[in-house]
Amino acid sequence: PKQEMVDVPQLLNRILERWRPRMERLNVHHVFQSAEKLPPVKGDWRALDQVFNNLISNAIDAMRENGGVLSVKVSLSTLVSPHPHLEIAVSDNGPGIPDDIRERIFEPFVTTKASGTGLGLSITKRIVTAHRGSITFNSYPGGTVFRIFLPASEES
Ligand code: ADP
Ligand code: MG
Repeated sequence: PKQEMVDVPQLLNRILERWRPRMERLNVHHVFQSAEKLPPVKGDWRALDQVFNNLISNAIDAMRENGGVLSVKVSLSTLVSPHPHLEIAVSDNGPGIPDDIRERIFEPFVTTKASGTGLGLSITKRIVTAHRGSITFNSYPGGTVFRIFLPASEES
């Protein structure tokens, strides 16, 4: 990937702004929380935009029936490695990921949507991996959380 200095909270704010009209129509509220003075991530701004955009669009889709709350949180984490990583958690309180596709959601063409491509999460995972990051999820009948970990840049 490109090696731009990506300000992750700024990127997330821009993406949320883009989705604002649709969220208002669907009665989806959102909260954004970010730790202060986070280091940047070195990488491809546009590719990382795609990563978070995919997760946010899936979360909104999951809540399109009954509305709900989209929550986006950014913090610094040493959970995955001694080297600090930015942790970006995107959660919704939709119905959760159907059991029969849980194992396969990162594979291409896996979708439960009438006009879905099933490509979003496979592309997301590929981009995250190319940035030396990782992605995990937890999903229940009451909601879903995707967590992305990206190595913090040493420079800023
Ligand atoms: P698409 O959005 O085109 O269906 P994705 O790869 O983005 O493709 O997602 C694959 C499938 O994973 C979705 O069709 C949906 O069934 C499930 N999924 C993804 N995110 C969520 C979520 N936040 N809540 C419930 N299901 C989800
Ligand atoms: Mg999608």
